[in-house]
Amino acid sequence: MPTAKDLLADNRLLRHQLEEFVAQARENERKLRRFQALELRLIGINALSELMETLLYPDYSTFKWDTVTLILLDPEYEIQRILESQNRKLLEHPTLMFATEPGSLAHLYPRSLFPTLGPYRPRQHAALFPGRRRPASVALLPLVRHGRLIGSLNLGSHAAHRFVRGVRTDFFEHLGAVVAICLENAVNHERLKRQGLTDTLTAVNNRRFFDQRLAEEVAAAKRDAHPLTCLLLDVDHFKQVNDRYGHQVGDRVLMEVATLIRSQLRGNDVLARYGGEEFAALLAQTDSAAATEVAERIRSAIAARHFELADGERFQVTISIGLATFDPTAGSDFDGNQLVCQADKGLYAAKKGGRNRVVNQGVLQAAKPLPAPG
Ligand code: GH3
Ligand code: MG
Ligand code: MG
Repeated sequence: MPTAKDLLADNRLLRHQLEEFVAQARENERKLRRFQALELRLIGINALSELMETLLYPDYSTFKWDTVTLILLDPEYEIQRILESQNRKLLEHPTLMFATEPGSLAHLYPRSLFPTLGPYRPRQHAALFPGRRRPASVALLPLVRHGRLIGSLNLGSHAAHRFVRGVRTDFFEHLGAVVAICLENAVNHERLKRQGLTDTLTAVNNRRFFDQRLAEEVAAAKRDAHPLTCLLLDVDHFKQVNDRYGHQVGDRVLMEVATLIRSQLRGNDVLARYGGEEFAALLAQTDSAAATEVAERIRSAIAARHFELADGERFQVTISIGLATFDPTAGSDFDGNQLVCQADKGLYAAKKGGRNRVVNQGVLQAAKPLPAPG
C-alpha cells in the first residue's frame, strides 16, 4: 500500500510533468504562429525578387536563426535571368547560390527528401554557409516539387544545440513545402508575363517588351554613364520573297533571320521584332565603333545564308541596318525615342543608299540652339 507521503510525491511529480507539457504546448503554439506568419507573407508574394528578399533578409531573431542561405537549381539560368531584370543586386548576395547540374544538390539529402538537422560539418556544409562565421548547428530544408529537388533552404545557428537530430521536423517540412510552391509560382508568374512579351513567330521579344526595356536601358546608361547603341534592322525587298515563294517561306526566312541576328548578339542584349520584317536591338555598354562591327557581322551573316526551298531552289536575302548611339558622357540628355528615331534615319539612309548596308548615325548630338532673331 503506498503511503500518503508516497501519493503526495507522485502527485507532485505528475503535476510537474503536466506543467512541462503545458509549457511545451504553449511553446509549440508560439512556434506555430511564427512559422505561420512567415508562410503567410511568402504566400502573398508574386515577384521572385521579393520572395528572395523575404527569405534572405527577414527578421530571423524571432526564430533564433543566425544565418539563412538558399541554393537553387537553375540549369537554364532562368531564375538568374528573372532576378537580373527585377533586382540584379540579389545576384551578388552571398547567401543566394545557384547550381546548374541537376544532380548537384542530391548529396545534401542522401537518404530522403526530408529536413536534416544536426551539427555543422565543414565537408558537407561549407559551401552552403559562405559567411566568415560558420554556424555550430544547421537545419537543411529540401525544396521539392513534383518529387524533384529544386533547391535547399539552409538555416544555421551559432548554438550547437539549436538544431539537433531527432527532434520533430514538421514545422520545417511545412515551411520547405511552402517555399518550394512559392518559388515555382513566382517563376511561373514571370514566365506568363514574358509570354505576353514574346513574338510567337520568331521567339524573340515583341515591341511591347522592347519599349519597356528601352526606357530601362536608357536609365541604366545614364546611371552607370555607359554608352547604349540601338540597331534597327529591316529585311530588304521582303515583299518579293512573299510574292515569289509564298508567305510560309517568308515566315521561315523571318525565323532564320531572327536566329542569325540573335547569334551575333550577347546574351543580355535586347532583340525584338519591331514590326513585320523589322527588328530592333539594344546593345548596352557598346559604343558606336563596336556596334558598327556587330551590325556588319549581322549584315554579312544574313547575306551569306542560303535559303533552300522544298524543290531544291536556293535564294538569299539581305538586310539594311541603321544604328545610333547614346553616350551620357557626351554631356547631352536624350530619351529612348530620340535614340530609335535616329537609328531609323540610319535605316532609311541604308535603304536609299542601295540596301544590304549599315549606316551609322553616330553619337546623338544636342540640337544646336537657334540663332538669336535679328
Ligand atoms: P524594303 O527593302 O524597302 O524594306 O522592301 P520590303 O519589301 O521589305 O518592304 P515593304 O514594307 O514594302 O514590305 C514588307 C513586307 O513584309 C510586306 C509584308 O507582307 C511582309 N510581312 C510582314 N510581316 C510578315 C510576316 O509575319 N510574315 C510574312 N511572310 N511576311 C510578312
Ligand atoms: Mg523591308
Ligand atoms: Mg519594313
